[in-house]
Amino acid sequence: MLTVPQLHVPTLAIAGSTQRFPVRRIYCVGRNYADHAREMGGDPGREQPFFFGKPADAVVGSGRLPFPGRTAELHHEVELVVALHGRGANVAVNDAAAMIFGSAVGIDLTRRDLQAEAKKNGRPWDMAKGFDHSAPIGPIRPGIPPADGLISLSINGQMRQNGDLRNMIWSVVEIIAALSGYLELAPGDLIFTGTPAGVGPIKRGETVRGMIAELEPIEITFEE
Ligand code: MN
Repeated sequence: MLTVPQLHVPTLAIAGSTQRFPVRRIYCVGRNYADHAREMGGDPGREQPFFFGKPADAVVGSGRLPFPGRTAELHHEVELVVALHGRGANVAVNDAAAMIFGSAVGIDLTRRDLQAEAKKNGRPWDMAKGFDHSAPIGPIRPGIPPADGLISLSINGQMRQNGDLRNMIWSVVEIIAALSGYLELAPGDLIFTGTPAGVGPIKRGETVRGMIAELEPIEITFEE
């Protein structure tokens, strides 16, 4: 008989708890800060948010990471990540807060060169966004996510991204409402809510630290 593979559910740390948060799906919002939309050559007008995904097992906590292959332009995007414990489709903005378990600091790692090629050719973003270890996320803090406060990222101690959560074009509850119009959201889902300006390259051996207000930071160091 062939051996049937056994799968394990990826999990994230929960701040102040020994329990872990099981990850079902990872969704990401594109261009949710006007300054980043402009730096990517877009129009920061309030068009409907658009979404893409990463595989659930792309999540990883703080620590050392292998440098991903097939890229000469690995970029960092520090983002507020929202973790859901509710289930719902077509959720109203006013009901969205009840879906939220907590929030964390995440880094939407991006192979920018592959993304640029995909955009140019009208191809999907999966290989640019959804590779192994592409979703480093710090411990989840239970409760309602911060609506304002510093969101920043440093490399080897040097500040590279520095924004404020209040400059999100779409708020967390508006994102949940919009995304739940496309599919049913469920317990274990994570949503990356977009990055402020200042995205840029990471080199081998560098330490990348993402910080948001009072949330626990995420810190990853790439192998040489
Ligand atoms: Mn992003």
